[in-house]
Amino acid sequence: MDFTVPEDVQRLLRDLDAFIDAEIRPLEEQDDNVRFFDHRREYARTDFEAGGLPRREWEELLGEMRRRADAAGFLRYALPAAVGGRDGTNLAMAVVREHLAHRGLGLHNDLQDESSVVGNFPVFHLVWSFGTDEQKADFGPAIITGERRVGFGLTEPDHGSDATWMETSATRDGTTWVINGTKRWNTGMHTATHDLVFARTSGAPGSARGITAFLVPTDTPGLEVTAFLWTFNMPTDHADVTLHDVRVPETAMLGAEGEGLAVAQHFVHENRIRQAASGVGAAQFCIDEAVAYARERVTFGRPLAERQAIQWPLVELHTEAELVRTLVHRTAWELDSTHHLDVSHRVSMCNYRPTGSSAMPRTGRCRCTAGSATAGTSRSSTSTATTGGTGSRKDPRRSKCAGSRGSCSASPGRRPAPREPPTATYATSPSRRSSTVRSCGEVDACIAASRVMTPSRSSATRCWSKVCIP
Ligand SMILES: Cc1cc2nc3c(=O)[nH]c(=O)nc-3n(C[C@H](O)[C@H](O)[C@H](O)COP(=O)(O)OP(=O)(O)OC[C@H]3O[C@@H](n4cnc5c(N)ncnc54)[C@H](O)[C@@H]3O)c2cc1C
Repeated sequence: MDFTVPEDVQRLLRDLDAFIDAEIRPLEEQDDNVRFFDHRREYARTDFEAGGLPRREWEELLGEMRRRADAAGFLRYALPAAVGGRDGTNLAMAVVREHLAHRGLGLHNDLQDESSVVGNFPVFHLVWSFGTDEQKADFGPAIITGERRVGFGLTEPDHGSDATWMETSATRDGTTWVINGTKRWNTGMHTATHDLVFARTSGAPGSARGITAFLVPTDTPGLEVTAFLWTFNMPTDHADVTLHDVRVPETAMLGAEGEGLAVAQHFVHENRIRQAASGVGAAQFCIDEAVAYARERVTFGRPLAERQAIQWPLVELHTEAELVRTLVHRTAWELDSTHHLDVSHRVSMCNYRPTGSSAMPRTGRCRCTAGSATAGTSRSSTSTATTGGTGSRKDPRRSKCAGSRGSCSASPGRRPAPREPPTATYATSPSRRSSTVRSCGEVDACIAASRVMTPSRSSATRCWSKVCIP
């Protein structure tokens, strides 16, 4: 077994660091754009007068970041060569995401809205894996450039973890499908051109079979965004969507009729391993900050770092991060070599651990649990302050207490110098696109496996881990 990060991935990390320093950091620092990342960030990003949606200036800044990353050849790294990508593996993406999160909060990689100089594009992967040739041509490149923006409509007001119990239905009427129901937490619907709506087309509630995915244009009569749900970490773009007699043609179907759960699971697995890797990076950032502070702060004539009571939890945290990192790397590597449903339980374990840890840096000021640090940098999360205090070491970006809400969003600030690329790795990673869509029988096997281990991050972070529980 070779645990060395492939040389090409190490080179990529170095290239990314150079690119960020040359083109992203200056953009972040000009025109007071730093307001989107320092202690003012929640207010800078949120248009409270417009219902709490992201401010136009914030989204334009993200757009410029993406344009620069695309021009430099990084944005499409994980996409197929056919659309200008580099066929980046799941392992490479996990290493990249961890590295970028470990640099701290910044325009290069923001866990609150999952933007990054190395793009994620989960819906692109769905279209590429499940779509017809027409859908690939219509949606593929357009999703990358942002001409097509697709929401993901799985969760409902009464069904999240138990998504297979969804009440949204679609019935056939000649050559069209008629969709009725309500969806919740559909992210990105303020600008979406389409919503990928999952609806039951056959089978009993709770059955893995009989759910079908439809690409529904958002201007279709009967589709209405009725609310955006406010979250502890603003802005929000998480919508309630109602569908009343929404008619779509047969060609709107993504994947086979009744096989929509496999489409949803594909999305879930690709996204979750990257979120887990980001969690490791963010946690390691916080641990490093705690160590630095413990070395810097002198009490009773000696640095905190020399006190065993301070050393122990830091060692524990560091060990936890190393354990999760190894599991994330292994699972990402397995995602590249086996079918994603075969490692569904492991993907869940990766996500459970970073957010489940209760260890914490005990060096005072505003430090949060390692788990909270992870959650706090993720979308719309809440976390609990555990160590008291109000400041950070020097940079207000390094932490932020929302005392009035009794919550603390531990957000890593910018690090002066990024860590060296990780050395633990896997030399050979077959193409991540080796897997194919499986039959319902295999989906059922996944369901059985998921019963064993399906931790959820619940309201703390966005969670896709339970969609296959019947
Ligand atoms: C910021 C944000 C963005 C989101 N974006 C999207 C999106 O774009 N599209 C979309 O479709 N959805 C989205 N979601 C929804 C998300 O996928 C669901 O919140 C998630 O699936 C959990 O469902 P729930 O909130 O209904 O929790 P519930 O299902 O009510 O679960 C509540 C708690 O109970 C636990 N629990 C549930 N069932 C069991 C069980 N059988 N055994 C043990 N414990 C159990 C869970 O682990 C969790 O801790 C988003 C959510 C958030 C917070």
